[in-house]
Amino acid sequence: MKIAILSRNARLYSTSRLVEAAELRGHQVQVIDALKCYMDITSDHPAIFYKGEKLSGFDAIIPRIGASVTRFGTAVLRQFEMMGVYPINESVAISRSRDKLRTLQLLSRKGVGLPVTGFAHSVSDTNEIINLVGGAPLVIKLMEGTQGRGVVLAETKQAAESVIDAFHELDANFIVQEFIKEARGSDIRCFVVGDKVVASMIRTAREGEFRSNLHRGGVAQVVKLSKDERATAVQAARIMGLNMAGVDILRASRGPVVMEVNSSPGLEGIEKATGKDVAGIIIEYIEKNAKPHKTRTKGSG
Ligand code: ADP
Repeated sequence: MKIAILSRNARLYSTSRLVEAAELRGHQVQVIDALKCYMDITSDHPAIFYKGEKLSGFDAIIPRIGASVTRFGTAVLRQFEMMGVYPINESVAISRSRDKLRTLQLLSRKGVGLPVTGFAHSVSDTNEIINLVGGAPLVIKLMEGTQGRGVVLAETKQAAESVIDAFHELDANFIVQEFIKEARGSDIRCFVVGDKVVASMIRTAREGEFRSNLHRGGVAQVVKLSKDERATAVQAARIMGLNMAGVDILRASRGPVVMEVNSSPGLEGIEKATGKDVAGIIIEYIEKNAKPHKTRTKGSG
C-alpha cells in the first residue's frame, strides 16, 4: 500500500514509529506536512499539490494534526478523503473531537460516564455554575488548552469565583467540572484502535500536582483495565467516530468517567510504558480496513 502520514515533522516519535512500522510491513510511506500543501478545489477532480508535485496514488492516510493547525489540517485531510483515500480518522471526527464541550455533549447523549460539567457565558451565572458541579473543590478548564495548560483546580468557592470571573473578563471559553478527588492525581489513557483498547497506561501526577500530564512531570505505568473501563473507552471512541483514539478516563467512585477523547494520540508515552508495538497495530488495522472511498462522510458535514 501507499500510505501518507500527515505530520508537521518526520522526526517526531509518533511519526517516525509509524513510518518504521509501515515500511517493515512492505508499504510505501510519505510524510506530508499539511501546512505545505495547497489544494485545487475548483475542479471536479480534487487535487493536492505538495512541494510542486501533484499527490496521487495513496491508499490510506494517517492524520496527525496538531491542535494549533486543526482547521487547515482537517481541510487537507478532507481533500484526501474527496480523492478517495482511506483515512484512519476522518476529518469530521477530528474536528468534532477538538471541541471539548461538544465531545462531552455527544458522550452524555449516549450515557457515557462523565464528570459533572457546567458551561456558561454570562458572569451572573458564576454561583449557579459552581453549585451545579457540587461546589468547591472544582476544576476550571480553558476550552483551547492542551497538555494541562489552562486546567485549574480551585480548592475553595472563593478561588473558584475569582478564576471564573477572571476567565470571563478575558472572554475565554471554559468549562467548570466536578473535581474527581478519588482519582488521586491519576488518569488512565486507553489507546483504542478499531473496537479494542490495544494498550493502556495509568499516569500519576508528581507530588503537589493534580494534573497527570506527562508534559507536567507525571509518570506512566502499565495498568490493567476493568471490563467497564474497556467498554467505556471503546464506546467513547465509537461515539466520536474515531477508529484510533486516546481516551482519557478518571477512576471515580461511581465508575469510569471520560475526560477527553484525543484524535491524534501520541505513541511515545504509551509504547514506552507498555512495551507494545502500537504503531504496528495501527498499520495492521489500516491493512484490514483501507478501501477506496470508504469514508462515512466523504469530507462533508
Ligand atoms: P489537557 O487536555 O490540557 O491535558 P485535561 O482535561 O486532560 O487537560 O486535564 C489535565 C489533567 O488534569 C488530567 O490528566 C487529570 O489528571 C487532571 N484532571 C482534569 N480534570 C479533572 C477532574 N475533573 N478531576 C480530577 N482531575 C482532573
